[in-house]
Amino acid sequence: RGKRAFIAGIADDNGYGWAIAKSLAAAGAEILVGTWVPALNIFETSLRRGKFDESRVLPDGSLMEITKVYPLDAVFDSPEDVPEDVVAESVKEDFGTIDILVHSLANGPEVSKHLLETSRYGYLAAISASSYSYVSLLKHFVPIMNPGGASISLTYIASERIIPGYGGGMSSAKAALESDTKVLAFEAGRKHRIRVNTISAGPLRSRAAKAIGFIDMMIDYSSENAPLQKELSAEEVGNAAAFLASPLASAITGTVLYVDNGLNAMGVGV
Ligand code: NAD
Repeated sequence: RGKRAFIAGIADDNGYGWAIAKSLAAAGAEILVGTWVPALNIFETSLRRGKFDESRVLPDGSLMEITKVYPLDAVFDSPEDVPEDVVAESVKEDFGTIDILVHSLANGPEVSKHLLETSRYGYLAAISASSYSYVSLLKHFVPIMNPGGASISLTYIASERIIPGYGGGMSSAKAALESDTKVLAFEAGRKHRIRVNTISAGPLRSRAAKAIGFIDMMIDYSSENAPLQKELSAEEVGNAAAFLASPLASAITGTVLYVDNGLNAMGVGV
């Protein structure tokens, strides 16, 4: 049978989650989606009304099918927010198991503040929504993942290099996510034969990135300075994720894979 993927963090057709879903669907996977509760209604309505039909088209001309959309809140305070354990339990009841888990979400309420100006609340909220959310998601899904399965998250180079403007503890959150990728690769690998990797993606004009406020500048900077002087498409990240989730990557775990036109390798811009 084909593989089944759960992708957390899709609320429109502009982000990395959508592109990853498409690449996995093109490779034959069944697609389940977790959508943030406040965005759920509009996402499902738009899907139903055909608003995304153009961007659902796969390379073979067919349309990507999303089998089911689950409400998900990665920072739950109450049961109505639908935390990860509730979502994993519903997926288990509906489908039994999955093979691929994708975490494509982040949130930092003070992202536009310098780290020096960030409050304890803002810092911890960024870590909670962007880093612990992955630990929790994997923790609750690992028991229903088939051995040999794979898990992928999305990170950003601000974790290891200074990117002014990526504030509010979001750089710290990505550093935690990358470190956790290694420890989780060990634990999930030994215990369940699950691989755990993260993709350090270049800049994309997603809804979340537009909210940060400097995305056009980052895209221009990359086009000017990266070894490959082209705009990065979400599809290129989607394809890398499909590779990491496939048996072609069966010995790859605990890694940060750069999908950024090579910008990470530059020391100075020229
Ligand atoms: P996006 O807006 O498509 O995705 C972010 C998603 O997170 C949204 O669907 C949003 O609803 C969801 N979300 C936010 N808070 C949530 C919560 N508490 N619970 C559940 N869901 C929540 O934007 P994107 O840029 O594609 O982001 C996906 C991932 O890619 C993120 O981890 C982001 O940091 C990473 N990334 C993005 C870029 C970029 O330039 N866009 C670069 C590198 C890494």
